[in-house]
Amino acid sequence: MIDSHAHMQAEEFRTDLEAVLQRARQAGVKAIITASVDLPDAQACLALATHHDLLHPAIGLAPYSDLSQLEAVISLINQHSQKLAAIGEIGLDYAWQKHPEQVGPFRRQVELARELDLAVSIHSRSAGKYVLDELSDLRAGKVHLHAFSGSLKDVRRAIDLGYYLSVTARVVNSERVQQLAMAIPEELLLIETDSPVLSPFEGRNEPANLAPALQKLSELKGIPSQELEHIIDKNAEKLFKLRN
Ligand SMILES: [Zn+2]
Repeated sequence: MIDSHAHMQAEEFRTDLEAVLQRARQAGVKAIITASVDLPDAQACLALATHHDLLHPAIGLAPYSDLSQLEAVISLINQHSQKLAAIGEIGLDYAWQKHPEQVGPFRRQVELARELDLAVSIHSRSAGKYVLDELSDLRAGKVHLHAFSGSLKDVRRAIDLGYYLSVTARVVNSERVQQLAMAIPEELLLIETDSPVLSPFEGRNEPANLAPALQKLSELKGIPSQELEHIIDKNAEKLFKLRN
């Protein structure tokens, strides 16, 4: 299994990361894309990934971060492009209101991903339609919509555009996520935990929770879990650059 979106450099894992990664391996996780949200987080993400084979870094400036860091993040991306699995997380966050100032940094990073032939890992909150408008306008080719919360109409449009969508481990017990899972065709399906958040259980989330998520997905889709795991892993390998 490949966790297509997590944040393993997060404070929450500082004291016991080794044990968390060990549990992930035992659960069958063979790669974790660890995404970052701003400059210090991106630096921590790159440093951590050099020490752990399981971790594959994605760096980017998230829409809710300090947008004045854009140039520094862009230069970090350029400097380390050969190590990156993807650019992310980037996107639009319109949870309380529209934020036109987020659009420029988002577009810039999508264009850079295209130049570098990297996938983008997209955060979108209350902005499904706008994110899809920007991505299609920029003819983004390699797109991962992480923890997508758009309407079913947005989901169908994303599928028509050939974008990958990931189902979070919340599929275990969230009806909404189960509906999303049913709407995504196998060839565009990924799974993620978004660790340390979005746990289907009490407390901190961790990549080992992909195992119950895969089990649930297998039941929902009526596909044996080994077969489904193979399909999802192939999708992730096609989209992301997993370099070890
Ligand atoms: Zn995230």
